[in-house]
Amino acid sequence: MSRIPLIAGNWKMHKTLSATRTLLGELQTAVADVDSVEVAVAPPFTALAAAVETLRGGSIRTGAQNMNEAEEGAFTGEISPVMLTDVGVNFVILGHSERRALYGEDDELVGRKVNTALAHDLVPYLCCGETQGEREAGTTEAVVSRQLLAGLAGVQADQAASLVVAYEPVWAIGTGLTATPEQAQQVHASIRALLAERFGESVAQSIRIQYGGSVKPGNAAELMAQPDIDGALVGGASLDAASFAGIVRATAAAGS
Ligand code: PEP
Repeated sequence: MSRIPLIAGNWKMHKTLSATRTLLGELQTAVADVDSVEVAVAPPFTALAAAVETLRGGSIRTGAQNMNEAEEGAFTGEISPVMLTDVGVNFVILGHSERRALYGEDDELVGRKVNTALAHDLVPYLCCGETQGEREAGTTEAVVSRQLLAGLAGVQADQAASLVVAYEPVWAIGTGLTATPEQAQQVHASIRALLAERFGESVAQSIRIQYGGSVKPGNAAELMAQPDIDGALVGGASLDAASFAGIVRATAAAGS
């Protein structure tokens, strides 16, 4: 089955309003002629409305980097799914390793957020990935499957086809280290097998599994050429239009 590759930029805590408009304007121009790759950006909360407005009428999607699992309430500093749909975003990154490591998000909380996102028609980009120590201990696939089974608890097969899984080895995020295409493919294949067990083969074949971890224009093509790698979640290289567009173009070339 052919899945349309999805390249998404996770801007993290970067970009003011004016920088958001500038970057998105440049990005729209840079990828205007690429139609075989889906492109998405996740600016910080403060820039979401400006991003939605700037991208209106085009094909680049806008998403958030996190979300609370409740619809409203006394949760100082939090943002709800209702607020995200109200502002016009289409997806939400959940369970990013920085949220897990720095803000104590555990597998069960991530699972509740995934269910809430689906209930609000937000596409969850469910992140998973092992630390360096877990890889060295030979537990990569056990860690990833634990994160995914908890993250997908309660999700029905008919909801699952729309979701996105992002495999991001923690040791490769922001470090300049990248999994080799073979290392990444091995984990992606195991993720697809788990999705098939959980939701059936045909749903598993339609779910996009992104790779994330120091993806750059120079290493994107060989990663994207792997059969179970369906795009990338990009941090640092998404902050510059030329480098992000370079990844989108490399992905388009890998699939053609
Ligand atoms: C990320 O944080 O999701 C990520 C993949 O970051 P980077 O591309 O900078 O490694």
